[in-house]
Amino acid sequence: MDRFNFNDKIVVVTGASRGIGKSIALAFGEAGANVVAAARKVNLLDKVVKEIQANGGNGFYVRCDLTKDEDIFNIVTKTIDRYGRIDILVNNAGISPWVKKSEEVTIEEWEEVIRVNLTAPFLLCREAGKIMIQNNWGRIINVASIGGLVGFPRQIAYCVAKGGLLQMTKVLAVEWIQKYNITVNAIAPGYIATDLTAGMRASKKISENLLQRTPIRRFGEPNEVVGAAMYLASEFAGYTNGTVLIVDGGWMAS
Ligand code: NAP
Repeated sequence: MDRFNFNDKIVVVTGASRGIGKSIALAFGEAGANVVAAARKVNLLDKVVKEIQANGGNGFYVRCDLTKDEDIFNIVTKTIDRYGRIDILVNNAGISPWVKKSEEVTIEEWEEVIRVNLTAPFLLCREAGKIMIQNNWGRIINVASIGGLVGFPRQIAYCVAKGGLLQMTKVLAVEWIQKYNITVNAIAPGYIATDLTAGMRASKKISENLLQRTPIRRFGEPNEVVGAAMYLASEFAGYTNGTVLIVDGGWMAS
């Protein structure tokens, strides 16, 4: 089981203040990694880091707004200042702020979603990738969505961004594996009980409709996405590259 040992690995997790990212950050902390938790809400990040430390782990947080380039570069700078390298990058932060007809989407709405869900992960891959290239080792995990594999009506920017993220995963996986020993993979969660889906889950009609399409007939828990991230970051996954691990209770299979 040593291959599930993350002792002294440096892991950057975006969107670590809550939801799936928080669960992933806590799990890496428990598994011995040094965790860099990034998001906007410092009060929540502070709690996550304290929880990691209370469980015997290490880490710190970096406040960042992924709509700002300088905040993205700051995550990398702060991590290098503290730990000297980045081993694992989990591009988890994402938003889905609206559900509306495609013909009514404004350019501002489009750009915000593309920015946080696609451009920010690219910039982080690029900057963390430079460090991983120097170290000739790295693991990148992009948290996409089943919405990157199929079309969700009224979520055009979200689906396009997640589909783009899956495609970015493949391009980087092809470019960086042989020469630099960096694997790049994605996770595509189905419907998970977090703030992101709170609005949908609050509606009985929408919930019933979603669960009807989900063979397991319940929403997933953030913790149920963690195993996929740990696997893809581990030594077990050395030959797993450019792929997408679907964690959706069977939604895509039905
Ligand atoms: P969530 O509970 O809403 O959490 C989103 C995280 O992203 C928070 O930590 C938030 O932190 C951070 N974030 C949002 N905007 C940001 C910004 N501009 N700058 C920096 N951080 C930002 O969502 P979740 O459900 O855990 O989702 C995590 C990932 O899984 C996302 O990429 C999402 O698309 C994907 N996913 C989720 C589901 C689902 O059903 N929940 C399904 C498929 C895919 P702050 O607010 O503190 O900044």
